[in-house]
Amino acid sequence: MSTQPAQAAPKPSFVRYDAVTKSYGAKGGALALRATSLDIAEGEFICVVGPSGCGKTTLLNMLAGFVKPTTGRVSIGDVPVAEPGPDRGVVFQEAGLFDWLTARRNVEFGLKMSGVPQKERQLRADEVLKLTGMLRFADRYPSQLSGGMKQRIGIARALVNDPAVLLMDEPFAALDAQSRSLMQEELLSVWRRTGKTILFVTHSVDEAIYLADRVVVMSANPGRIKADIRIEIERPRDEMSLEFNRLKRELKEMVMFEARQQELEA
Ligand code: ADP
Ligand code: MG
Repeated sequence: MSTQPAQAAPKPSFVRYDAVTKSYGAKGGALALRATSLDIAEGEFICVVGPSGCGKTTLLNMLAGFVKPTTGRVSIGDVPVAEPGPDRGVVFQEAGLFDWLTARRNVEFGLKMSGVPQKERQLRADEVLKLTGMLRFADRYPSQLSGGMKQRIGIARALVNDPAVLLMDEPFAALDAQSRSLMQEELLSVWRRTGKTILFVTHSVDEAIYLADRVVVMSANPGRIKADIRIEIERPRDEMSLEFNRLKRELKEMVMFEARQQELEA
């Protein structure tokens, strides 16, 4: 009898980048992303880090359906991504709320545009406002909300269609350190309760190690995936722990190396 522990079966892939490349502009234009493949399981939390210009946003935008791959294919549950759709919710660095609408109306806006009746709209908006801890601020206008609260509304808005995938492009980059930590907690709690698949782009190695199941490290010129590292540290993660800091050093060195290469090539 074997004394080896049973190996967990690999989870089937849900989101799949299959040999994707991207060059912007005319044919033969600079390659923003070189043949990239990436598999993400359902419910996985993936963070993407790398120096600026390495193609993080391009990678995310292709899954969002904002940008078409030049070659290769991006799919969700075996369905190719062709355009933006309600199965993907997107959160940007700036919440981009309508100043003249209350928080609740901002969250409801997309539903209203797609003709969802008022009663159902309110029900669904309230549900995600509750999930992000914003229900009691639902009648405030954006000007009456802090940066962190605006981003919570941004997250609620992205969740209101009950998307399969949540896409976040440096969503906390503009926040002060304290609000950022709070938002990270908040997001993990939303993730735990909803089981969403999350693709989260960040400049911060600390943030990536704190949040992710897997950290994907990219390098530039052309953009490509350099490493894909599973974070096994149990949550809630202690940023002071030895293990956290060992990973942080490893990843920081990798990203710094890439940034230096980029500077030399520039
Ligand atoms: P990151 O998010 O990592 O900073 P991006 O995906 O924004 O990287 O950009 C990757 C590369 O593609 C960069 O060299 C950038 O200049 C180029 N790029 C991005 N968007 C466009 C665009 N719309 N038109 C032309 N070039 C672009
Ligand atoms: Mg970007």
